[in-house]
Amino acid sequence: MKIKPITIVGAGASGLISSILIAREGIAVTLLEQNSKAAKKITASGNGRCNIGNTHPTVEHFHSDNISFIDSVLDGYSSRDIVDLFSSLGIEIIEGSDGKLFPMSLQASSVVEILLYEVSTLDIEIVYDSTLLSVSKQGGEFLLDTTQGDISTKVLLLATGSMASPQLGGSSRGVEIASSLGHTIVPPLPSLVQLCSDERWVSQVSGVKIDALVKLYANSELISQKRGDILFTNYGISGLAILDISRDVTRELATYSYCELTIDIIPDYTKERFVTLLLKYVDNRSQKPIDIWLMGFIHKKLIPIIIKESKTKAKIVAQLNKKEVMKIVYSLKNLKLSISESRGFKGAEVASGGVDTNEIDPITMESKIVKDLYFAGEIIDVDGDRGGYNFHFAWVSAMRVAHQVGSIPLRR
Ligand SMILES: Cc1cc2nc3c(=O)[nH]c(=O)nc-3n(C[C@H](O)[C@H](O)[C@H](O)COP(=O)(O)OP(=O)(O)OC[C@H]3O[C@@H](n4cnc5c(N)ncnc54)[C@H](O)[C@@H]3O)c2cc1C
Repeated sequence: MKIKPITIVGAGASGLISSILIAREGIAVTLLEQNSKAAKKITASGNGRCNIGNTHPTVEHFHSDNISFIDSVLDGYSSRDIVDLFSSLGIEIIEGSDGKLFPMSLQASSVVEILLYEVSTLDIEIVYDSTLLSVSKQGGEFLLDTTQGDISTKVLLLATGSMASPQLGGSSRGVEIASSLGHTIVPPLPSLVQLCSDERWVSQVSGVKIDALVKLYANSELISQKRGDILFTNYGISGLAILDISRDVTRELATYSYCELTIDIIPDYTKERFVTLLLKYVDNRSQKPIDIWLMGFIHKKLIPIIIKESKTKAKIVAQLNKKEVMKIVYSLKNLKLSISESRGFKGAEVASGGVDTNEIDPITMESKIVKDLYFAGEIIDVDGDRGGYNFHFAWVSAMRVAHQVGSIPLRR
């Protein structure tokens, strides 16, 4: 069997970029993809617009059991390098809100077409419908067992992504193979995912979208808080603030199988300020029902829940005094929502966890356990916030692999 110089497994974000950069060095690249199409996640990304990166890819936007690894990987690669990388492919990058970077076309599918055009012009051998099943190392080479037969390769890059979104190619196979080669795996959990609740009232307010501050407590300690849109749904809760807090929630759920969110539905007001505001509208002769009265301030569908939670005895405005108003305001700022589970990997944009970063060289992305084995992208125990950070890590890790592999004597 002819030994290939380098085989890259996974024609997704990191696999495509690393294959292009390595092939540009004059090295013959073989790229295996289990799907019949490449880069399904890129195509689906950013609601079809592809949020390709961010102008501020600082370490606090990334998560891992080992933050210093991320620091070392990101060091020396700015958003300018990402813009230049895509410019070298003929893709102009523009900046949107919050530093988010997009292709000028705002079309994720065009990004994939351009990447695949580059793959074809560089004569990269891309094999679709080819799933890597297992790997063994014999002598200096890797023997790959794939659904399309065996492959022998000198260098192996696992760019198989994470378990998130199996409908788009998410799979646990990559980490299983890494584990079989001796790597430790930080247990993967869904992240950037919607959350489910068994509370009856949630489905009654399905469709309500508000700006809120969402807090996660564990043992009375504040674990995290996020501000943004929340959307009540028939299964639980979604929206940007929920996706943002979901990483911490799925970790809590993994330990306790249950957790509770506290929702502040008037985040722009302190308790005192809102009490003062409401008291301005209290007329102690008014027969107005308090649910109608509250419609002047908050979404009407939420009112029955707030009234119930507050345990106010007042039925009409005339019965409201400062104490009753304070009870209502307390509920508005501390609406409790129990969370039973997340929507799982199927609903998740990314997964936390993956190959333990203590076993990967952050400069070269080479395994510290198996020589000539490399990792790039989400298979590694690194995940980012919403806002282009996950692609940023995929591109930078791919560039690091390409830089290292380009220095190995593998040329044709
Ligand atoms: C709906 C959605 C929207 C997103 N939007 C954004 C966004 O706007 N911005 C952002 O930064 N991030 C976004 N992400 C996250 C981003 O897509 C991923 O972090 C990124 O694609 C990870 O790159 P990767 O190369 O590690 O893996 P992937 O891009 O997932 O590529 C892995 C590839 O490996 C293949 N594969 C897996 N196992 C095997 C095997 N055993 N054999 C052969 N092939 C295999 C898969 O089919 C896949 O094609 C989004 C994710 C989703 C699901």
